[in-house]
Amino acid sequence: MGALAVQTYDLGVRFGDFQALYGINLEIPQGSFVAIVGPNGAGKSTLLKVLLGLDPGNLRDGEARLVGRAEVFGQAPKALPASWVGYVPQVKSFDRSFPALALEVVVSGLRRAWPFSIGPREREVALAALAQVGAAHLAERPLGRLSGGELQRVYLARSLVRQPKLLMLDEPATGVDVVGEADLYRHLEAYQRQSGATILMITHDWEAASHHASHVLLLNRTVIAFDPPGLALRHEC
Ligand code: ADP
Ligand code: ADP
Repeated sequence: MGALAVQTYDLGVRFGDFQALYGINLEIPQGSFVAIVGPNGAGKSTLLKVLLGLDPGNLRDGEARLVGRAEVFGQAPKALPASWVGYVPQVKSFDRSFPALALEVVVSGLRRAWPFSIGPREREVALAALAQVGAAHLAERPLGRLSGGELQRVYLARSLVRQPKLLMLDEPATGVDVVGEADLYRHLEAYQRQSGATILMITHDWEAASHHASHVLLLNRTVIAFDPPGLALRHEC
């Protein structure tokens, strides 16, 4: 196996009395495309958040305890430079009611403060990221007037503005039609070819997992299987 992008040692997450994840030992090769599949509540989002260096307990009330460790490129996630990791959150239905333009959303990936004004350099970088996912023409479009697939591509562009080496996506094809979905994967794969980035993607879709991923990680509070996509694994579900 070549260089590792992510490694975890007996990683666990507990919310109060509830053990959401336990005994996670993962070695994810650099440049791989990993699909994370598992039932609702399996801990998929929690795992991504931990790898992002977010303490999942801070996301809402309730005590979260982390045991074990996760290393991303040999560093503790908290010490990672922001440019290293890109994150595409799950699209929620209310996202489109947020009064913003696509370009503003992409620029927000470059800084902490909301972009009430956008400098020429920021505009250039954001437009390049939109162009990278075939969405440059959407720059001045309000979110409320984007289709599901267009909104996902804008979110993808937001995660790409810093050209991350590790890209994490939470159900990127939710609310996207088949054409939009094919488009989304085409752009993802192009980014991976061009950058050599590692991709971790949560999905419910076995078909997409086996088509696009180099590895399928079956998760249900712990790792059930971590394999190249194969019939044996698919038949279990
Ligand atoms: P998945 O993404 O696989 O659907 P999640 O990672 O969102 O699962 O959640 C795993 C379990 O942990 C669920 O039972 C969820 O309710 C619980 N959970 C997630 N976040 C928190 C939190 N901040 N506080 C308490 N419980 C949580
Ligand atoms: P998912 O997209 O995985 O289905 P949810 O909609 O269940 O996520 O949860 C959204 C957010 O709420 C997440 O940040 C998760 O950590 C948090 N969360 C989930 N379940 C609980 C819970 N039981 N108590 C507190 N926070 C939770």
